[in-house]
Amino acid sequence: MNCAIIAVGSEMLGPTRLDTNSLKVTTALEEYGSAVIRKAVVGDRLEELVNEIRFSLDQVDVLITTGGLGPTEDDMTREALARALGLDLVLDQAIVDRIEARFAQRGWKMPEVNKRQAMVFVGQQTLTNERGTAPGFHLEVRGKHVWVFPGVPHELEWMLATYFRPWLHERSGGQARWRRVLKIAGITESGVEEKLKPYYEAHADEPPVTILASPSAIEIHLAANGDEATARDLLAIRERELLDLLGDRVFGYDDDTLEAVVGRLLKSRGETLATAESCTGGLLSSRITDISGSSAYYMGGAVCYTGAAKTMLVGVPSELIAAHGEVSEEVAIAMARGARERFGTTYGVGITGIAGPTGGTPTKPVGTVHIAVATPTDVEHRKLFWQGPRTIVKWFSTQTALDLLRKTMLRTG
Ligand code: ATP
Ligand code: MG
Repeated sequence: MNCAIIAVGSEMLGPTRLDTNSLKVTTALEEYGSAVIRKAVVGDRLEELVNEIRFSLDQVDVLITTGGLGPTEDDMTREALARALGLDLVLDQAIVDRIEARFAQRGWKMPEVNKRQAMVFVGQQTLTNERGTAPGFHLEVRGKHVWVFPGVPHELEWMLATYFRPWLHERSGGQARWRRVLKIAGITESGVEEKLKPYYEAHADEPPVTILASPSAIEIHLAANGDEATARDLLAIRERELLDLLGDRVFGYDDDTLEAVVGRLLKSRGETLATAESCTGGLLSSRITDISGSSAYYMGGAVCYTGAAKTMLVGVPSELIAAHGEVSEEVAIAMARGARERFGTTYGVGITGIAGPTGGTPTKPVGTVHIAVATPTDVEHRKLFWQGPRTIVKWFSTQTALDLLRKTMLRTG
């Protein structure tokens, strides 16, 4: 099945906005084995839009448009489709009522222009949009399919999940590409490659796994084609093989984040956590509390940005700081222990380092960070050295702290 996409909106012809909607549509299509052979960005101009619709539809079986369904004069996707395909538009009073009710919920009156969004194609399928005011459409014209979706990204996503994927699923007879993502921390991308050598050798005749690096994880993407049961079985086998090679470096799957995984672990064990942060300035605390329900296990933290604050807030002895310096293994450990004791938690995490770009010395260059995890009986410490701007040093410090905590818990589980 060949497909084309048109992203409608003049803003995407300027230098500040990118069309990302088409990537979401493409993801869905790829999963069901359909190729996008053409895509376009068209401004809010009727003539151009009519031409593009005609031209694209000539070459494909399925055309998908996003955007231009809004209530204002410059939203002309409906009108352009009617012209290009020879369809008639008619006002649907039920949709007017729906939009009016949406406005009324917020105590507003529907502006008259919103009636435009209640114009539907005669004899064609209208797709209710539960995330917004503009409905979408599924048009069938001369054996070709045109899917018309709103431009607002979260509305589009809802429409794809609700209408488009089920349609693709049915047309493919359940044959699709299924994915499994393994998420890894505490090792570099090339380190992962190295570890996977035996896997590559064993499966040289299969499509290779894809390795993607992002600040939040290194991801291994596995894919298998077929019906769901067969594909999932194969993915489970391959996943097992990868786990044998990577061990506890794999912290999670698919949409997991390190903070979510650590949170689940703490919660399931009925254990608690407190933090003391210097160079990360509360970023660790922020990430931990990004998880809903984190108050079940996260008691609190201190941002102690000076030596005096480390002494005052988590009881690091000033003599220890004088002897070893603020950025040292000893101080990180004292911060972790201090946080644990002051908050009365199972674990304490301490982070102290030099985020830069100033403040480095020959023995403690910018990017030096000490991280410690204190447990009821023990303490773990890592020294890292990250090159890069402050934000990167801070991010990877929290990443390492979360992963050290995770591994410490697994070892003592
Ligand atoms: P609405 O009913 O909200 O007006 P619409 O279908 O008219 O929906 P647009 O007005 O085209 O949608 O776009 C609404 C928002 O969605 C804008 O902020 C726009 O930048 C964004 N948007 C539109 N198209 C895309 C796209 N292809 N990729 C990413 N964002 C988009
Ligand atoms: Mg619009």
